Amino acid sequence: MAEIRVERVTKLFKGARAVDDVSLTVADGEFMVLLGPSGCGKTTLLRSIAGLEQINGGRIVIGDRDVTELPPRRRNIAMVFQSYAVFPHMTVFENVAFGLRMRRAPKADIDRQVREAAELLHIENLLDRFPAQTSGGQRQRIAVARALAMKPQVLLMDEPLSNLDALLRLEARAELKRLLGEIGATTIYVTHDQVEAMSMGDRVAVMRTGKLIQVADPLTIYDGPVDRFVGGFIGNPPMNFLSATVERRNGGSVAVLEDGELPLERTVELDGHLGPVLLGIRAENVEIVPADADASLRARVLVVEPLGSHNLVTLQLGTERLKATTRPDERLERDQAVGVVIDAARIRWLDAEREVALGAEAAGDPSAGHGPPTPQEHEPGDGEPG
Ligand code: ATP
Repeated sequence: MAEIRVERVTKLFKGARAVDDVSLTVADGEFMVLLGPSGCGKTTLLRSIAGLEQINGGRIVIGDRDVTELPPRRRNIAMVFQSYAVFPHMTVFENVAFGLRMRRAPKADIDRQVREAAELLHIENLLDRFPAQTSGGQRQRIAVARALAMKPQVLLMDEPLSNLDALLRLEARAELKRLLGEIGATTIYVTHDQVEAMSMGDRVAVMRTGKLIQVADPLTIYDGPVDRFVGGFIGNPPMNFLSATVERRNGGSVAVLEDGELPLERTVELDGHLGPVLLGIRAENVEIVPADADASLRARVLVVEPLGSHNLVTLQLGTERLKATTRPDERLERDQAVGVVIDAARIRWLDAEREVALGAEAAGDPSAGHGPPTPQEHEPGDGEPG
């Protein structure tokens, strides 16, 4: 059993909160991705879990042990970092064996575990070479093999694929996912690449300025971001946000936009809310129809970008812009007037002022999965030494 529990962890650098009151539970065998923009505290949180940073507040529990005060080597974890340190003067075998030797494992065990890990990563034919005689992708696999050879219950990885070129990265991503699934190690994986996060994680933890914003499975994060930041950070293109006002009309309600109205009978999420809102809309949920069709919204085509599998269309809707995806063979001209149909049931409704999802606001964060709820508010200075 190797659940990881991060409880209200704070890490200060000269008074600045690199990690700010973060609580996160990673289940035994789960693959958790830490995602967020540069400088949001992902690496610091990972290093804190590893014991490479001393935290200023909170507690870290791995399995059933409180490891907060333990040095890294006693936390029973393996790590792979961005600058994967393969030792140039050691053979691949010795590189993979490194952690086991440090642990003073018996020679026969080292031999067996190195070969197993090497086979798993398809580097068994490289064991006698030196790193300089291997490719960048192979070196990355050496670093992963070294971590896996230790049969860790807990694996911490910080951008382990960042040094690979795009194609190799795509391949390594799938391979690593398969491998970690087989091994069943509890994994925390840091990346700023949202595609990597979505494709690999059982769950994704999104961070911003030291805080945990949302923890959920990839689809929930994509369809149900808790706020504008998450909706804008995840997805390519980012989620669209349109301003509207919800009004009562003939027993039902409508969202009044600049250039039209959306009837809302089918929307449950809104739950009686009236007044200004932000509509979070994914590009694939925007349907473009002919101008003379029965559509609730009117728009004009600004740009059409053919992307092969689909076209990305930018529409002007009043003073706002809206991105839509269409089939590659759909013909649209610049400046063409069109109708726009949006399925109200697929809209994410946000409070206009706070830019936080209405449902999430009312009920805490319903998409937080089985992890603990993210603390939204706490006393300043709570959980850290005076
Ligand atoms: P990136 O994706 O760019 O690696 P990150 O999300 O991993 O970013 P961190 O490296 O954890 O971010 O940094 C979080 C904040 O803490 C940043 O503002 C950074 O400048 C600061 N920071 C990190 N390490 C130190 C340090 N040793 N001393 C002072 N400040 C630091």
